[in-house]
Amino acid sequence: MQENNKGFSPDTLCLKAGWDPKTGEARQMPIYQTTTFKYETTAQMADLFDLKTPGYFYTRLQNPTNDFVAAKIAALEGGVAAMLTSSGQAASFYAIFNICEAGDHFVSASTIYGGTFNLFAVTMKKMGIDVTFVDADASEDEIAAAFRPNTKLLFGETITNPSVNVLDIEKFARVAHSHGVPLIIDNTFPTPINCRPFDWGADIVTHATTKYMDGHSSSVGGAIVDSGNFDWMAHADKFPGLTKPDPSYHGLTYAEAFGKGAYITKATTQLMRDFGSIPSPFNSYILNLGLESLSARMERHCKNALKVAEYLQGREEVAWIKFPGLPGDKYHELAMKQSRNGYTTGVMCFGIKGGRDRSIKFMDSLKLINMETHVADSCSCVLHPASHTHRQLTDEQLIAAGVQPDLIRFSVGLEDPADIIADLDQAFEAIRE
Ligand SMILES: *Cc1c(COP(=O)(O)O)cnc(C)c1O
Repeated sequence: MQENNKGFSPDTLCLKAGWDPKTGEARQMPIYQTTTFKYETTAQMADLFDLKTPGYFYTRLQNPTNDFVAAKIAALEGGVAAMLTSSGQAASFYAIFNICEAGDHFVSASTIYGGTFNLFAVTMKKMGIDVTFVDADASEDEIAAAFRPNTKLLFGETITNPSVNVLDIEKFARVAHSHGVPLIIDNTFPTPINCRPFDWGADIVTHATTKYMDGHSSSVGGAIVDSGNFDWMAHADKFPGLTKPDPSYHGLTYAEAFGKGAYITKATTQLMRDFGSIPSPFNSYILNLGLESLSARMERHCKNALKVAEYLQGREEVAWIKFPGLPGDKYHELAMKQSRNGYTTGVMCFGIKGGRDRSIKFMDSLKLINMETHVADSCSCVLHPASHTHRQLTDEQLIAAGVQPDLIRFSVGLEDPADIIADLDQAFEAIRE
């Protein structure tokens, strides 16, 4: 991993971290579109397989293009090491499975992305890993009550999808650390441009790079970043996968052999080796283009979102609106405390008076604003979870999941905010009763 990130702010690192061209080399990061790498002697390759020397041998485990982009994301988050995965889902799974096995347990905030909720509540349960969900707004004592002797980590989202609640990272970090386990934070919605969870005590960060980092609805992807701050050896009995010898690498112990790089090295050499959810180098190239403009785009997304939120707040048809960038929002102060730059995210949710049916009619009347499953796209887009992602649920179940039946998730894009507001205006006109 490269070290060309000294002293620069994340805004500069979007351009400068990762691929670092020397004299005469390509300004733009090369795509190593290759499955494998050539060596001269059997001994050289044997050392790679034994993890004695760093290097590339097969793209299912590691590829230079992917690693340049992982290094950039690590630099943006202020971490020591990162790996890319082929989706955000794979990142969430690997981040947990790297330190949990059958018979283990973890605690998660209940207000998390629906796909993550299902992964935890259904699929990981089938693998023998148990989860307890807690209300992220609960007191430290209430969250602590969910911990068991076999609890291995605490998980949450900085700003939740779709309910845009803001998580108190310092509170979560205190509970995790007082139980000798790391805090893993999904930082997809703010991105490290707006918030860096490591500054508030998180140990590991995950991303759906699919969202703002790619930013153009081009490539699905994920990332895991390690702060290097969690001391695995101090809790050696809890994390034998990192602190005891690995028989699949001749008895090597990750925490001893790789120090602060242990967690990501293990995720690469065990999980990526065995599950293989690696992104294609071409997708990583696209992701890197997105990262170059991430800082500029986030500022515009967030400025536009604030203008649009203020407009919606002033419409009498709007029953309620949640946007942590709005003064008066329940989470505004916390969001501002945790923000590096005064911005939160470009996503909000709101409901229209008249309930589910009128919300649907409103969405169907939009012309400029796309209807998409996606979020954090360069184009403004809306989704109605009750008819789309959560359509199997009854109204009672929806409310329990924090998704009101009239909730419209609105991801504000990079268009001229006057055009976005004009589209909303004409949709309000269309549903006038
Ligand atoms: C989209 C999303 C994910 C899952 O990412 P995919 O790339 O779709 O697999 C995880 N967490 C959050 C917060 C998301 O928005």
